[in-house]
Amino acid sequence: MPEILLAKSAGYCFGVRRAVDTALELAQKHQGKCSIYTLGPLIHNQRVIEQLKEQGIFPLESAKELDSVSEGIVIIRSHGVSKKVVDLLVQKGIEYVDATCPFVDRIHRIVSDESAKGRSIIVIGDPKHPEVQGICGWSNGPVKVLSDTINAEKFDDFRGCPVTVVAQTTFRQKKFNEVVEILIKKGYDIHVLNTICSATEERQKEAEEIASKVDAMLVVGDVHSSNTQKLFEICNTYCSNTFYVQVPEDLDLNRVRSVRTIGITAGASTPNNIIEEVQNHVRRTDV
Ligand code: SF4
Repeated sequence: MPEILLAKSAGYCFGVRRAVDTALELAQKHQGKCSIYTLGPLIHNQRVIEQLKEQGIFPLESAKELDSVSEGIVIIRSHGVSKKVVDLLVQKGIEYVDATCPFVDRIHRIVSDESAKGRSIIVIGDPKHPEVQGICGWSNGPVKVLSDTINAEKFDDFRGCPVTVVAQTTFRQKKFNEVVEILIKKGYDIHVLNTICSATEERQKEAEEIASKVDAMLVVGDVHSSNTQKLFEICNTYCSNTFYVQVPEDLDLNRVRSVRTIGITAGASTPNNIIEEVQNHVRRTDV
């Protein structure tokens, strides 16, 4: 049986655990007597979403679906939402519980305050990610998203304006530094606030350390989870034998039967029981 090196940082991060616990506590409190919705899937893990449905917690796909909500409670997930969506909830008189991760909430406040002072905002992150869309929605003025160095090289807006730069919490530190470097070289007057979450940084660093010393590396998490995708990218750089595993069965044991060491890490929305199941699956290489 190969030696397994499990990352200490694998699995739920503080913000995701807080959001899941909030939802479960609400379900417990109301015992099915009132509808509970989450604005978007609470976490990127289909199995957990199905378990939440069994507890009476249903995801709304977008803010547009709020039109169909006439009663019940809406949970804002850890990614957060734009100010417009919060205003809409208030305007419609819908009861809501804000489970935005405090680290994301801090970025909302920075963007709101800095833009109110007349500074333009650059968010370094994935423009399609709901966290980034939510962050942009707190700006009182011009805001742009830069996803990589290619975008940064082409970027030519905000010339002569003071600019505040923030990051998507799960962005890769190295890529963030490279984009900032380009903006500085272009002569922008920037105030950089590194808002990458320390949990993400630690998880990525540990994944890199483990991946660089094992024969095979498993990254456990949902294929739609942005932080899991980034973990895969990092691990694959240091270990060419890296596998993306959503459920244990995704891993063909024949691919790892002859290796001596296997590293395991997992994204922030991966529950412990799936990580445990993956470890047990790997132990079957002996059979
Ligand atoms: S990764 Fe960090 S910022 Fe994002 S939800 Fe988790 S703890 Fe919060």
